[in-house]
Amino acid sequence: MKLHILDCGAMSCDLTWLLLKPGRTIRPRDERDRPVEWYPCTTHAVLIETGEGTLLWDTSCPCGWETRWKSTGLQEFFPYDQVSDEQYLDAQLGRLGADPASLDYVVLSHLHFDHAGNVRMFEGTGARLVCNDKEKEFAFGYAGAFDGAHLKADYEGLDFTTVSGDTEILPGVTLIEAPGHTVGTIPPGTPPWRRSAPWPSVRTPRSSSATTPPSSAPCGPRRTASTSEERPMTFAVPADPESVFTYGAPALKFGPGAAAEIGFDLAQYGVRRVLVVTDARVAATGAPARVAEQLSGYGMEARVYDGVHVEPTDESLEAAVEHARASGPWDAYVAVGGGSSIDTSKAVNLLTTNPGTLLDYVNVPVGAGLAPSRPLKPLVAVPTTTGTGSESTTICVLDVLELKVKTGISHPRLRPVLAVVDPGLTMTQPAGVTAAAGMDILCHALESYQNRR
Ligand SMILES: [Zn+2]
Repeated sequence: MKLHILDCGAMSCDLTWLLLKPGRTIRPRDERDRPVEWYPCTTHAVLIETGEGTLLWDTSCPCGWETRWKSTGLQEFFPYDQVSDEQYLDAQLGRLGADPASLDYVVLSHLHFDHAGNVRMFEGTGARLVCNDKEKEFAFGYAGAFDGAHLKADYEGLDFTTVSGDTEILPGVTLIEAPGHTVGTIPPGTPPWRRSAPWPSVRTPRSSSATTPPSSAPCGPRRTASTSEERPMTFAVPADPESVFTYGAPALKFGPGAAAEIGFDLAQYGVRRVLVVTDARVAATGAPARVAEQLSGYGMEARVYDGVHVEPTDESLEAAVEHARASGPWDAYVAVGGGSSIDTSKAVNLLTTNPGTLLDYVNVPVGAGLAPSRPLKPLVAVPTTTGTGSESTTICVLDVLELKVKTGISHPRLRPVLAVVDPGLTMTQPAGVTAAAGMDILCHALESYQNRR
């Protein structure tokens, strides 16, 4: 089986409205005079070739977008203007030798103008057009020529085969139904911030096969094709892979001097009282005190807590939580140190914002495995060692002394909002610590490699 990701260029859009950039949100009042920011809004299609047939996933935007979208006004707000001749869908397919007539299935995630823009290319080719039944019901059911990003001219009159639920289209290629962002596929009661999931997704396991020779398919009048070495990304799917995964990470600020900007970064959250959490040995380097000092420079009241226990225990975490409660309330936390300081900060953040005890949140069977019911405060993680990774994870690891077990708490809300990785801090650690951190990283990598199935 072969899977090709076809880069079809990008539309441009004003993120104030689309909020697509990770971490992006509406602007505070002191930024209201900044100019509007436009970002590329990329569009892709996916071609899957199997021994049993060929499937195209989505069709991107049409080369005649400017006139096609005129009745809707979309051309003014999402111009498909960051695209080269080689990136139009037909050119990308031609490059791979996938003539529209050679495809067996064209599967539409949904019928928005940026996904169904070229589906007419497959009219009468013998390719079966597939979409979800609820999506079709909505897209064909509304009154008028367009509704939101649905544009009837894109798909009206075409014959769609509809599917419902997870559906295997070709052997090993399954369409997975998930809540989507178009009217027909959003379950009632879904909060607005959960509506951005792509719908549905394709799962593809198993081995590879060869491609056919190239041909081309025209896309109406356009500029002469230039020669470019850019090629669509192509890879063979390994046998029996884990083909679906989620990549989650905080914003990462990296570079010598990055730790000197924490005051500025935290000021963006409008916080006033900040607890800097560290252990006694890191505190002795002076780094946490310097962080607290620059926070003061931004009008924040910052205090250092240096009682972190190296390899946190339930007792040490409870002591830290107790300290934070007694000296709080705190609007934000900054963890300076190794994994112990960062994990302790996560526990402190959790238990000063949510009800219950530590064990309520610890993984089952040791604890009750509860999810936090309330949002946590912003946590900025500043690792001073290279081996932890805790600055980017959702996990807090601890020893439960009485049971003599190492366990943890894991929830996306525990993840720091910002990781500040400043080589100026890691360079100053003793050589033995650097070597041990390196061995730790190597061992974790080997574990992951060995246990990938
Ligand atoms: Zn859409």
